[in-house]
Amino acid sequence: MITIALSKGRIFEETLPLLAAAGVVPSEDPESSRKLIIGTNRDDVRLIIVRATDVPTYVQYGAADLGIAGKDVLLEHGGAGLYQPLDLEIAKCKLMVAVREGYDYEGAVKQGARLRVATKYTHSAQEHFAAKGVHVDLIKLYGSMELAPLVGLADAIVDLVSTGGTLKANKLVAVEHIRDISSRLVVNQAALKLKHDRIQPMLDAFAATVAANAG
Ligand code: ATP
Ligand code: MG
Repeated sequence: MITIALSKGRIFEETLPLLAAAGVVPSEDPESSRKLIIGTNRDDVRLIIVRATDVPTYVQYGAADLGIAGKDVLLEHGGAGLYQPLDLEIAKCKLMVAVREGYDYEGAVKQGARLRVATKYTHSAQEHFAAKGVHVDLIKLYGSMELAPLVGLADAIVDLVSTGGTLKANKLVAVEHIRDISSRLVVNQAALKLKHDRIQPMLDAFAATVAANAG
């Protein structure tokens, strides 16, 4: 059995065409089904539906052979025990620093002010500000980061931005681009060796589809 860990929402939707190219069609829609283990048209392939941040953990411990996770999530996890053979070029967005409209971020940085930064991405944020030589107090949040600067919890947030619509709706502006984000295929290293005959063709099919989409 090949087990693939996926999260619901945009990653699941954008993964469907890749799975189809590898000959895998889920037998249920995780958005409407409450099942956490979803069968497919192939007897030897099943999907497990987990939180986006939990995908690397399931693959690391071999509870899933393959998974699809955002680079944002992989950077926080650290990637131990994971082989990351392929950028799938899906769920694209940017990791950015954002502040309240009118907040003088450049000025605060120039003055060497100590900034309070709220984020779910403490590892990436830590690295970013350390590389810039900016002193920060990081505040770990698990969601709705946009709220933090509005109620005085933080001066800035580090969050994913795609259209910028959520920032705009909350009167925030992006002031710094940290890195581009997309989702990657992650593979358990032991599974790749033990189940090479079945996993490698899937990796090849994914790679061919990504190349075709890019071209
Ligand atoms: P929840 O929103 O339910 O708390 P989550 O934030 O863990 O869960 P999603 O919002 O579905 O999950 O995000 C899953 C992955 O999709 C992220 O890890 C990231 O790689 C990518 N992603 C997140 N936000 C965006 C976005 N605005 N545009 C494109 N991709 C995104
Ligand atoms: Mg989210």
